[in-house]
Amino acid sequence: MSDECLFCRIVRGEIPADVVHEGELTLAFRDINPAAPTHVLVITKQHYTDVAALAVADPELAAQLLTVAADVAESEGVARSGWRLSFNVGADSGQLVPHVHAHVMGGRALGHPAG
Ligand code: AMP
Ligand code: ZN
Repeated sequence: MSDECLFCRIVRGEIPADVVHEGELTLAFRDINPAAPTHVLVITKQHYTDVAALAVADPELAAQLLTVAADVAESEGVARSGWRLSFNVGADSGQLVPHVHAHVMGGRALGHPAG
C-alpha cells in the first residue's frame, strides 16, 4: 500500500469509485474518463507499479487479474461482441497511474491497436 497512490486510495475507500467487482485480492471499477462504452479498470488490491512488476512478484495473482478481466467482460455484456485488454507500462506507453491496472474496453469497434 502506498499512502499517495490514487488506486491504493480507491482500495482503501478514501476516493469513491464505481465498483463492478470486488474480490479478496482484486477490484474492478469504471474508468472515470471512458474511452469506450465499456471501460473498466481491473487492479490488484496490493500495490504493484505495473504488470511487469506484478508478473515477477506474483504470477498467480497476475493470472487471477486476467480471469477477473474476462469475468468483467462477461458481466458487462461484451464477451460475445469482443473486447480489448491492455496494460500500460512506463513512460512511452503513457501510463498515468503507477499501480497495475488492466483496461477492459469494448462496446464499439475499437480499431486495431497497431493502426
Ligand atoms: P493509464 O494511463 O494506463 O495509467 O490509465 C489510467 C486510467 O485511470 C485513465 O484511463 C484514467 O481515466 C483513469 N482514472 C484516473 N483517475 C481515476 C479515478 N479516480 N477513478 C477511475 N478511473 C480513473
Ligand atoms: Zn497503489
